[in-house]
Amino acid sequence: MAGVKAVGKTVAVIGSGISGLSSAYYIKRIAEEAHISIKVTVLEKDSAIGGKLRTESANGFTIECGPDSILASGAPAMDLFKELGLDGKLITQSTENRGTYILSGGTPMKLPEGMNGMLPTRLMPMLTTPLISVRGKLRAAMEPFVPRSKAEDESIAAFVQRRFGSEVYDVIAEPMCGVIYAVNPENASIRRTLPYLSRLEKEHRSILVHGLSARKGRGSGAAAPPVGERKCAIYPTVKSIDP
Ligand SMILES: Cc1cc2nc3c(=O)[nH]c(=O)nc-3n(C[C@H](O)[C@H](O)[C@H](O)COP(=O)(O)OP(=O)(O)OC[C@H]3O[C@@H](n4cnc5c(N)ncnc54)[C@H](O)[C@@H]3O)c2cc1C
Repeated sequence: MAGVKAVGKTVAVIGSGISGLSSAYYIKRIAEEAHISIKVTVLEKDSAIGGKLRTESANGFTIECGPDSILASGAPAMDLFKELGLDGKLITQSTENRGTYILSGGTPMKLPEGMNGMLPTRLMPMLTTPLISVRGKLRAAMEPFVPRSKAEDESIAAFVQRRFGSEVYDVIAEPMCGVIYAVNPENASIRRTLPYLSRLEKEHRSILVHGLSARKGRGSGAAAPPVGERKCAIYPTVKSIDP
């Protein structure tokens, strides 16, 4: 081919997760733009490609086995979707069935509205949720009176149990940590994984009071607005990609 430098090198990319696949794609693209001829080989130890990305279909449902969404606003992934011609296949969140469900006693139950990650920002949904018992709610309501921790750091589990009680931890925080952060909250540091919560405790002591008042006034800005209220964000997933 005219203008193409024959370099003849092979680049090996180890792993076919999204990091490996996008690296391979960009290496190839950059090389082509620089008129360099290289071969890119992606090596994968599993029988399927995609790493944590895996989609299954059952009984008419599309099931994401791991990641199910990306933040659309300003995300470089959106440029990649466009480049690959996949932007027409994006599915945005359904407003009809919006919400997060937690399996509780075998029944999917809606997470109280106004949860910003782990930060409750609305009182009524917290008070009326059937997910937590009256006893658990009373314990969580004591949160404003819980003193700040003197420890430099602690696990997410210890932090949530100390501030909100063990029921809120078992029913809400533990499953959400797995889904959102893919970590074991018993081992994960609150400072590193959820620094905004650790900071809120240091600055305001009560996370509950701050969360509720921040929503009212959007005042201190220490926490981001709840996911459902971020106007610029869509959380798309891709309908299907032909192999
Ligand atoms: C339950 C869950 C939900 C998530 N939800 C979201 C979400 O909604 N949105 C979001 O943005 N992120 C989400 N994430 C995070 C996201 O899935 C990961 O950040 C991302 O998929 C990681 O991609 P990766 O390519 O870096 O790694 P991986 O997907 O882990 O891929 C690594 C690949 O390398 C292969 N490999 C490893 N070692 C070798 C070797 N020696 N030789 C050959 N191959 C090897 C592995 O088999 C694997 O295929 C979620 C994660 C989990 C677990």
